[in-house]
Amino acid sequence: MNRFDTHEVVNQASPFADVNLFACDPALREGVAREGAGWAVAGLERLGARLGSAAVLDLARLANENAPKLVNVDRNGRRIDEIEFHPAWHALMALLIEHGAHSLPWEGEGTRGQAGSQVARAAAYLLFGQVENGSQCPVTMTYASVPALRQNPRIAAHWLPKILSREYDPRSLPVEQKRGALVGMGMTEKQGGSDVRANTTRALALEPGSARARYGDEGEGAFSIVGHKWFFSVPQSDAHLILAQTDEGGSAGLSCFFVPRYLPDGSRNAIRVQRLKNKLGNRSSASSEVEFCDAVGWMIGKEGRGIPTILEMGSHTRLDCVLGSAGIMRAALCHALHHARGRSAFGRPLAQQPLMQNVLADLALESEAATALSLRLARTFDQMSDQMSNPSEALLARLLTPAGKYWVCKRGPGFGAEAMEVMGGNGYVEDGPLARLYREFPVNSIWEGSGNVMCLDVLRAVARGPEVRDALGVELALAAGRDPRFDDYAARLLDGLAAASGDEFGARRLAEQLVLAVQAGLLLRHAPDYVADAFVASRIAREPGGAYGRLPDGIDCAAILGRALVEIA
Ligand SMILES: Cc1cc2nc3c(=O)[nH]c(=O)nc-3n(C[C@H](O)[C@H](O)[C@H](O)COP(=O)(O)OP(=O)(O)OC[C@H]3O[C@@H](n4cnc5c(N)ncnc54)[C@H](O)[C@@H]3O)c2cc1C
Repeated sequence: MNRFDTHEVVNQASPFADVNLFACDPALREGVAREGAGWAVAGLERLGARLGSAAVLDLARLANENAPKLVNVDRNGRRIDEIEFHPAWHALMALLIEHGAHSLPWEGEGTRGQAGSQVARAAAYLLFGQVENGSQCPVTMTYASVPALRQNPRIAAHWLPKILSREYDPRSLPVEQKRGALVGMGMTEKQGGSDVRANTTRALALEPGSARARYGDEGEGAFSIVGHKWFFSVPQSDAHLILAQTDEGGSAGLSCFFVPRYLPDGSRNAIRVQRLKNKLGNRSSASSEVEFCDAVGWMIGKEGRGIPTILEMGSHTRLDCVLGSAGIMRAALCHALHHARGRSAFGRPLAQQPLMQNVLADLALESEAATALSLRLARTFDQMSDQMSNPSEALLARLLTPAGKYWVCKRGPGFGAEAMEVMGGNGYVEDGPLARLYREFPVNSIWEGSGNVMCLDVLRAVARGPEVRDALGVELALAAGRDPRFDDYAARLLDGLAAASGDEFGARRLAEQLVLAVQAGLLLRHAPDYVADAFVASRIAREPGGAYGRLPDGIDCAAILGRALVEIA
């Protein structure tokens, strides 16, 4: 090597690529089997290899560097409101749809998939979350729309075969001509998103039999919709569920409407895309502002019951916020840990320096706990329709969904910043994935009910009565007797629960404690002792700190890091 040759690269870690994302993650593998989806392991193994390939990881880069563009009119001036995407976006979408990330729990006989299919889907979603997050948005909304759509059997019969199809079909056509369909949701308006009761969009019943209103042979029940939505993600979806008022004064309350992109007569529905949002993250996906200029929609659920109807969708999207953030955490951890193993400073690999071990092990604990909670929560969704036989699971889902969305998503941005810092300057530049991952974290916390709104929802869940406390008690009792610090924490939490239900001021603290208790219980029961002990010592025996890397003495960091990322040479 010529001594002036500056191209020799030493002491730089290799890219984290061509890795099986499932095989390298013991916590995920164990969790899938434990929570009832052991049958899915072989498929997840194949998916993990595909998603971890350098080629697929590069699709994520391309889809984000080439953001979607809005094309309002064609070259002759006709209004089209089309969105143009880079081919990488379509390739990612096809992968998600091919693997049933939008459909798995709803496939098969009846209204539900195979037992454990929510957990199997959750695991796949966690893996996708380690690759690209914008493409998860349409998949989440399509998945979440299914229970709400089933409230209108006519629409469901017409649309579900396309919605549940495993074929991704991006063409802008009436649904009858498509091989697969996507569904979005529109609630947020300029004057209010958390408080959707402020929606001003109006829906006026159309005359039965009106030509525009015909849906197949079924004409009735169509409405003309006038108004706007300030956030309307995935405007290229084949349909959206939206909220609108059905009377002038709004006294009937909001109703939920199914608004297709094309009408049954093949014409475009009058949904005008005003512009695309210029977003911090999630740049591969299009989020828009729209106006409804006499668009046509069909009511889903009962008049005036739009909020509960669309919240059925919302509970599933909130589950995905938890899964999504757990996936991004896992990705950030893997990149950081892999880098620290391949990079030396002051004569030793970073991963062997005690202070760096403290940081990395702390991140690994957070990630494993998020994974364990995600899969446990997905299992409650698997069992939710068994309310008669297992009402405890439905109550636990009611409590843990908002609490989990609050805490796991809230931990994300700090986690991302720390993982980025592990990689030093390389973490900060856009050439690597950490800058993008960091930008992805906040949206899961804001979207579908921001942090405070989730915590207020936790209070509403607690206020439902002692059954909720009992359901939590059943879950925590499974880990009783394993660690006195946990036993004490769980007892205090359960004792104070009823009184806490009226305490808006302290709602964040309550949501945090609920999640930490469930996470600690899961780790005590199922993770190796060195993981559970470190989690309890750092988050139960004392308050979790603001910064990562404050684990107390006596933690077996080497063991935690060995488990966190199994790298197969
Ligand atoms: C990338 C992206 C995509 C989105 N896509 C969609 C979409 O497809 N469809 C859709 O309908 N919406 C979408 N949204 C909108 C999102 O759901 C809303 O932004 C969110 O619900 C918050 O509503 P808001 O923006 O009106 O904020 P506000 O309602 O004004 O809330 C502002 C803050 O006040 C807090 N707050 C509200 N009420 C209380 C209270 N009582 N006590 C204490 N704090 C409170 C909230 O937690 C929040 O932090 C998207 C948002 C983003 C960022």
